[in-house]
Amino acid sequence: MTGFRLDGRRALVTGANAGIGRAIAIALAEAGAHLVCAGRSAMDETLAGIAAAGGSASACSMDLADPVQAAQRLAEAEAELGGIDILVNNAGIIRRADAVDFSEADWDDVIDVNLKAAFLLSQAFARARFKRDGRGKVINIASMLSFQGGVRVASYTASKSGVLGLTRLLACEWASKGINVNAIAPGYIATANTKALREDPQRNKAILDRIPAGRWGEASDIGGAAVFLASDAASYIHGAVLPVDGGWLAR
Ligand code: NAP
Repeated sequence: MTGFRLDGRRALVTGANAGIGRAIAIALAEAGAHLVCAGRSAMDETLAGIAAAGGSASACSMDLADPVQAAQRLAEAEAELGGIDILVNNAGIIRRADAVDFSEADWDDVIDVNLKAAFLLSQAFARARFKRDGRGKVINIASMLSFQGGVRVASYTASKSGVLGLTRLLACEWASKGINVNAIAPGYIATANTKALREDPQRNKAILDRIPAGRWGEASDIGGAAVFLASDAASYIHGAVLPVDGGWLAR
């Protein structure tokens, strides 16, 4: 099972303070990686969770609303640590309004955090990797709305569809250079991102009725997929998207 271990690797996860990002950070640490928990909020709970699991971690302050500065922060953290082997572009936001009323700010804010930051962080990561041994793993967090339209989330659907295309493009450019770029597409996971849906009885029931597994996913359901894609076991996987969705897409 050594192919699944991450001992000696350094992983940076954006949005590691909460939800799916925290669960991925803890799972990667449990698999042996040193974690750089990146984001704009305090990382205390994630750092405590990693310590409780016997792992090692540090915090890195970055605000993805300014993707250029966030990429600069990644480059600094990379230099301080002497390398980052795994990048998980997890941080994301969602804004809800009918398309006809959707504001420019709700478009720009979501595209900046979900798509532009994912690209610029991946670029900074790859530039650093190419100066070292060239090997690395990028894991992007896509969505069911990388495949489907949804309603009332125009910029989110555009960003997550973009994340899937970007995953494929970067895989095509970097596979031969030693960097694996892949994505995880979570289904409906009980986090702050989906609070509004779960609090709407009709939407909640409609979603639950459509999930073959018959339950909302938990953030911890995503951890195993991240460990797999970050590991040597996935070394010949490039440009793939792994749904972790309770069977939603199979329906
Ligand atoms: P969440 O609990 O709301 O977590 C979002 C994370 O992104 C938080 O850590 C948040 O930090 C961070 N973030 C947002 N804006 C940021 C910024 N400007 N700078 C730095 N960090 C920022 O939701 P989640 O469900 O875990 O979402 C994680 C990822 O999974 C997102 O990309 C989301 O689109 C994706 N996803 C979620 C679902 C789902 O059903 N939950 C399904 C598919 C995909 P703060 O706490 O500081 O805001």
